Amino acid sequence: MGLTDIQDRIAKACKEAGRNPSEVALIAVSKVQPLERVEAVLAEGHRLFGENRVQEAAGKWPEFQKTYPDAQVHLIGPLQTNKARQAMELFSAIHSVDRPKLAKNIARLAQEMGHCPDLFIQINTGEEDQKAGVLPADADDFIAECRALDLPIQGLMCIPPVDEAPSLHFALLAKIAKRNGLTGLSMGMSSDFEEAIALGATHVRVGSAIFGERTKG
Ligand SMILES: *Cc1c(COP(=O)(O)O)cnc(C)c1O
Repeated sequence: MGLTDIQDRIAKACKEAGRNPSEVALIAVSKVQPLERVEAVLAEGHRLFGENRVQEAAGKWPEFQKTYPDAQVHLIGPLQTNKARQAMELFSAIHSVDRPKLAKNIARLAQEMGHCPDLFIQINTGEEDQKAGVLPADADDFIAECRALDLPIQGLMCIPPVDEAPSLHFALLAKIAKRNGLTGLSMGMSSDFEEAIALGATHVRVGSAIFGERTKG
């Protein structure tokens, strides 16, 4: 457990997969964690974090960034259209673009604000009703639609169903990305990031294995 342990495991997984560790970004998922745990990981030198709620991130990161101006935060949770502006101000990447209305709104705001975070399209690889994301069958059309809006789409993101082998979902995500010429793959969490790296992950989102168990959320 802890940052250096996870960095070591990422390096090992990369070595086994014949990949360069510089190809895999570790997003330390700090949602719901006590501020002193987050501060400790910042003090260790880590600079890339993930949050799943806009409001929660707004309450903690601008303050941390006074001390650590180069700290970056990625939004990994669902985004309501009416929070898009705030999200584009706070986050350097958004991993949860999943519907035309949101894509259009981000495109309009990007014009107005003169900048846009890196974007990932969330794919609901398990086709779960309760989960956000574009269905695999609709992915190609939605990616094309986002490109037509000139959005900076870096890649795809998925959260596999809890009761299925994650590798099948990682492989499906990689396949959809490849046929659409996308290189970014945001996949893998505390319990499965090594498998995700073996299947091409470029961004792993690891929370509890770095910070300890969350008490809520
Ligand atoms: C919370 C969360 C994670 C991190 O989960 P852990 O199991 O704690 O590593 C990763 N991705 C998303 C989208 C999350 O909401």
